[in-house]
Amino acid sequence: MIIDCHTHTRNSFDADNDTVIERCERAIQLGLDAMAVTDHCEVNRFFDKDHYKIDYEQKYDDYGFNKAFENSMAETTAAKELYSGKLNLICGLELGQPLADMEVTEKILEDKRLDFIIASMHEMPGHDDFAFLDYSQEDVPALLEQDFNEILKIAKWGKFDVLGHITYALRYIQGNQNIPVDMTPYQDIIREILKTVIEKGKGIEINTSGLRQKFGDTFPSFEYIKLYRELGGEILTVGSDSHTTADLAKGVREGIEIAAQAGFTRIAYFKERKPYFINI
Ligand SMILES: [Zn+2]
Ligand SMILES: [Zn+2]
Repeated sequence: MIIDCHTHTRNSFDADNDTVIERCERAIQLGLDAMAVTDHCEVNRFFDKDHYKIDYEQKYDDYGFNKAFENSMAETTAAKELYSGKLNLICGLELGQPLADMEVTEKILEDKRLDFIIASMHEMPGHDDFAFLDYSQEDVPALLEQDFNEILKIAKWGKFDVLGHITYALRYIQGNQNIPVDMTPYQDIIREILKTVIEKGKGIEINTSGLRQKFGDTFPSFEYIKLYRELGGEILTVGSDSHTTADLAKGVREGIEIAAQAGFTRIAYFKERKPYFINI
């Protein structure tokens, strides 16, 4: 059994140029039991740049995610029809900063084409995406505290299916820029995030991208998956966060193994915003 519930296509600004069809062909080749296309929709960048008053220096200048969203929905919906009976294709979305513009988010949530929503934090208000910051110039503990506070707000809001890569910032701080992070100060808030997700009947993901990147571990790592399970967590998806066809499903077997070690007997995927479970 193998699934991939976090994948990007050419409709994500940071992915290769391959189409949903090319991803589907690879998924069939790999024998995936389900694949969710979850292109980026950054809520705080939904409209063109001139819509926003940006008062800080930006390295990351992509806006107009409304177009990316529409293209992704149209392409994945068409592929679902084309591959009906051949591939369990899920029309998903990675919704970045969902609380940044509630009007935009509410509108997106009404879209009946959506099977699955991953809610992610990629950037703090007034900052670039974590991918673009120079952490030798940042107050890392303050930034992480702010990040987990924002994620807690998303958890309390609760209108997503799973929280994406809860420890995303570590990919860049610890992974790419080699700055060690002591996670001790964040144990309580991470526990609160996990408890809130469970109370809301929502889930989290094991994002396996870190296994093939410099970080060398999943987002979040085993200890948090185990804690989530101990707190009563049931809904867990696994995804590669692949941005190329070659990376599709990379690390998913290891991710499922981590889930099993943490005490999970099944993992989830979503259709029409409802969880379905597969025994592992
Ligand atoms: Zn992400
Ligand atoms: Zn992603």
